[in-house]
Amino acid sequence: MKQINRKITVTGTVQGVGFRPYIYNLACKMKLRGTVCNTGSGVFIEIEGEKDQVEKFTGKLRNKPPRLAQINTCRIQDNSLQGHEKFIISSTGGNATGESVAPPDVATCAECQKEIFDPSNRHYFYPFTNCTNCGPRFTIIKDLPYDRSQTSMSTFPMCKKCEKEYINPADRRFHAQPVACPECGPRAWLADKQGKEINDSWLEKSRQLLTRGEILAIKGLGGFHLACSGKDPGAITKLRERKGRPAKPLAVMCKSLDIIKKYCHVSPAEETLLCSPGAPIVVLEQKPSSSLPPELGPGLNTIGVLLPYTPLHILLMQEAPEVLVMTSGNITGLPLVKNNHRALKELGDTADYFLLHNRDIINRCDDSVTYIVKDKTMFFRRSRGYVPRPITVPAPHQKSVILGTGGDLRNTFCLLKYGQAYLSQHIGALDTVEGKDNFKNSLENFCRLVDAEPGIAAYDLHPGYHGCSLVHSIGYPASIGVQHHHAHMASCMAENGLDEEVTGIILDGTGYGTDGNIWGFEILSGDYKDFCRNFHLEYMPLPGGDSAVLNPWITAVSYLITALGKEKGTQTARDLFPEKAGEITLIDKMIEKKINTPLVSSCGRLFDAVSALLGICTKNTYDGQAPAELSELVPSSFQGPPEPYDFKIENSTIKINLLIKSIADDINNKIPVAKIAKHFHDTIIKIAADAAMYTRNEKGLNKIVLSGGSWHNRYLLTGARKILEKKGFEVYQHEKVPPGDGGISLGQAMIATYSL
Ligand code: ZN
Ligand code: ZN
Ligand code: FE
Repeated sequence: MKQINRKITVTGTVQGVGFRPYIYNLACKMKLRGTVCNTGSGVFIEIEGEKDQVEKFTGKLRNKPPRLAQINTCRIQDNSLQGHEKFIISSTGGNATGESVAPPDVATCAECQKEIFDPSNRHYFYPFTNCTNCGPRFTIIKDLPYDRSQTSMSTFPMCKKCEKEYINPADRRFHAQPVACPECGPRAWLADKQGKEINDSWLEKSRQLLTRGEILAIKGLGGFHLACSGKDPGAITKLRERKGRPAKPLAVMCKSLDIIKKYCHVSPAEETLLCSPGAPIVVLEQKPSSSLPPELGPGLNTIGVLLPYTPLHILLMQEAPEVLVMTSGNITGLPLVKNNHRALKELGDTADYFLLHNRDIINRCDDSVTYIVKDKTMFFRRSRGYVPRPITVPAPHQKSVILGTGGDLRNTFCLLKYGQAYLSQHIGALDTVEGKDNFKNSLENFCRLVDAEPGIAAYDLHPGYHGCSLVHSIGYPASIGVQHHHAHMASCMAENGLDEEVTGIILDGTGYGTDGNIWGFEILSGDYKDFCRNFHLEYMPLPGGDSAVLNPWITAVSYLITALGKEKGTQTARDLFPEKAGEITLIDKMIEKKINTPLVSSCGRLFDAVSALLGICTKNTYDGQAPAELSELVPSSFQGPPEPYDFKIENSTIKINLLIKSIADDINNKIPVAKIAKHFHDTIIKIAADAAMYTRNEKGLNKIVLSGGSWHNRYLLTGARKILEKKGFEVYQHEKVPPGDGGISLGQAMIATYSL
């Protein structure tokens, strides 16, 4: 049989995912010889043996890589025979060329879980147990190639036993960079508010404290959580008060899938997502029988749930309350806390005790927040467990790396390199010094991990956003401003691999328009280069601007006055909000005299207004509260047919006077709010469908992308999809990045690429 030799270079997420042991074992099993090593650009393999075996090997490598790997490219070259005698794993070589990707963090695997509960195993009850198939990755990496010396594990020299496993190619811990055991690895301890170590067992004591209703700050994988019993209304209320977070839903960690199923409906797709290596928070619908306290998410029937994803969490949850609130450990508006010292300082007013450890978190990374709509995964937040895995996009291979700086809230940034988009972890708000520093530091780290030096930076056009000034303060060779909703559209196109003219139905909160007004309800058409605004919601006055965003009732009053006229409008407003009579007169004046009254055409504000009109939510204590609570009144999935209120599309403007009038009448006629909410949702669906039809008639575009934060609304999404598909449209939605502002950095980068 003919002997051959091949060189194979694999790029992508191939380091820290058990790739080399997999190759080693595969080669040995197939009686092939050669070598495998990590390089700065990925994994290099030289394989030698019988021709058909080498070919089989290549096929397996490509089609069945290890579970956590993601291959971007696989280059194969024929080579002359080298006379290898066996297959070996050689030491890491080469400098980063940035084609290799640092892997995301991975939830504890089943084998490690078994070990931490096995009294005969040396990892028994050890909270930092991990292996090639699981453990920290992105959160501990400083630089590539991914080796222990480049991680925050570099300060923990391996003991003999760990080293033996680490160098044994047949071992599950072979070259698992964060391997550790009680003898050589990090440790956990409990401290009081002063940082003084409490000598009891951290595990026993933490359980006791949580059970008796105390609040713990717990250092995890990508940062701190604030934790308390999820079944103790008193503890939850205390946490809410101390954190100044009256209503924003809190995520809970449940001991097991069975416990989750006790409280929530879990579809097979949701179960798969909960148990996936990324172990994200999954937003689920609670069962009618659920006994979880309403304090977890006032006004909401849904709840964000996740499973314990590190040995520390798993051990803790064995005996602690079976449901734990696990909310981000930060001061509201500031970045997640990631080191012990700052935790004591910043969380001291909120937490009673601190569960700390001494493995440094290099890259801060919040939990990802996901949900399933019709078996498709969607993201509220794409962060831990997913980042920095790239997304393949239809961008030409530019010499320059492109940076999209994202939005101002729920910020992420994006580096675009060789047709791969690397979206950052959740950065959050940029409107504080800490937020801006977080952006800059995270960007610096990210550039190192992706080996990228951006040549062009794209930013949002909003003059009040910080992207532009950050771009200028960092200083890039070139920069470009991108319209917010064009970026939304481009982001949805990019993740769906579209590179042609499409229609974009953008339903969103706030975005700065090219005419200086606030946009957010747009039917666009265009591509990455340019866009045209075909239809938009009519402009409505927003008295007080940002203060109306915080107070949906102000928006409601304004819409009433605009739709019903001064007299009828103010009267109806007074009937609906009797305690606001004085302010209503003032609002009316502001509108009339155009004092501090920007114009908006936003879907988010329309939802705010209707939510307030129906008395559902008159004050937004967190972003998107009024729309979220309004959407609770409609089913989570559209069944149809739609029963819309009347509206008019005149030229390019979607007129909503009739809509507001009908809602006011229905309220007056005591029609149940759920019914009004449904008609309202159906109206939005009908508007989207009509505008899409007009655009198709005029421009012949049959592909539609749905983007913008309002598409988180499941009824809206399923309804619009159903109606549009019935009319023969090809409909694309977000599945890889969030529909909201967490996804726009991708669109910005794509638009900048095509502007070259
Ligand atoms: Zn493991
Ligand atoms: Zn050890
Ligand atoms: Fe937006």
